[in-house]
Parts: sequence; structure tokens; C-alpha cells
Amino acid sequence: MRLTVLGGCGAWPGAGQACSGYLVEEEGFRVLVDPGYATLPRLLALMGADEIDAVLVTHGHPDHCADLNPLLRARALADDPAPPLPVHAPPGALDAVMALDKPRMLAAALTRHDLRPGLPSELGPFRLDTFDLPHHVPNAGLRLTGAAGRVIAYTGDTGPSTELVSLAKDADLLLAEATYPERVPEEDAPYLSSARDAGRTAASAGAARLLLTHLWPGTPAEPALAAAAASYTGELSVATAGVTVDLA
Ligand SMILES: [Zn+2]
Repeated sequence: MRLTVLGGCGAWPGAGQACSGYLVEEEGFRVLVDPGYATLPRLLALMGADEIDAVLVTHGHPDHCADLNPLLRARALADDPAPPLPVHAPPGALDAVMALDKPRMLAAALTRHDLRPGLPSELGPFRLDTFDLPHHVPNAGLRLTGAAGRVIAYTGDTGPSTELVSLAKDADLLLAEATYPERVPEEDAPYLSSARDAGRTAASAGAARLLLTHLWPGTPAEPALAAAAASYTGELSVATAGVTVDLA
């Protein structure tokens, strides 16, 4: 099971970078998680658009799903169009990105599936569990369990929730939104997390490795790493384009 970071910027993509986007591969099955702004060029540097088997979208903010549009265009407008791509997202989360083109242009390029928290499902070789986590819009925390039992947990964007420890329980890798290093400004405190929060979650859940992501553009890695390390003693890093994590 392998995770490849396509991008990890929160909000908008910095120069030469991309917003949230992660490729998870197991047994040749390829899941694209959160096709945020500018992730498609990075994906296409690794493989063809037709080589993705499924897409998971945590929530409908464009820094997590805008590049679904060019991904579907690349599949639908090819000389030999790719088969419909299964795209799993919270109900309504894809409405805005799908409105970028006339409905008939991309209708045959995907099949839409609602993520329903609490109901485990199968996705290729993975078991998928989803968790309803607090954000400005409905946000699905994702827990992917591979065939060999390895677990990647991903928060999407979230405020504090007791569900986070269940999401990340004994995970081999917790990929956690950490927009701010120490403290989320008051108005966003119910809907976003800090690196300090992520460290606490990883420690409470017993996660073996913590990858901080969605740092606000311009935020250096060091203060985020230091804040998470205040409570988390496991392997710790920041998600930047090109980082890969192999879970054997
Ligand atoms: Zn968001």
C-alpha cells in the first residue's frame, strides 16, 4: 500500500505547488483522494488520466475537488474515452465542480456515489469507512484498510471531534489537516485544526505515523512539526508534493 502526495497546500496552491491531492495504491488499484487545485498536472506526470480506478472527495471545497473537472475532461475528450470513473463524495459535494461544464459533456465520464458515514464499503482491494467530521460544509473523514490490514486515515478538513480518534485508531498513517501550527482563529475553531490538535489526535489514536497537511500557504514546516511533536512522539512529517509513504 503506497501513498503519494500530489499536493498539500491549504486554500490555494502556492507557486509550483498544488492543493490537497493524494494517490493511494494497492495491488495495482489506484484511488485518487481529493483532486484539489493543480493536482492534475502532478498526477499526469506519474500516469495517464485513464489509469485512475476511483476518486474519493472528502468535501466540496474547490481546494479539495476543483481538478476533478480537468481529470474528467482528460478522460472524456481523449481519442479513446476512458470508462466512467467512480467518484465517491458527500451528497451534493460535487454540484459546483460538475456545473463548470454543460451536463451532457461529462455525464458519461463518471458514476457518482454518495459517501455515507457509518456504512463500511468496498473499494477495489480496500475497505472504506467514512466519518462525519465538522467543517464549513459536510466533510467525510476517510479510513482505507488495505488487503494486508494496513490503514491510512485522512481527516479531510475538520474541527475538533470525538470521531477523530475512531478514524485514526491504530492507523499506520494518519494524514491530518493542520491549517495552523498552534491555534485556529476563533471564528474557524469549530471547523479547522492545528498541528497541535493533529499531534494530540495521533497520540490518542495510537497512529504509527503522522503526516501534516493543508498548511496555510506560506506557513513553514518547522513550527507545525514542533507543535505536533508537543504531544506526538511517532514519525512525523509534512505532506509536500512528491512525498511517498510505503506501508508494507
Ligand atoms: Zn475545506
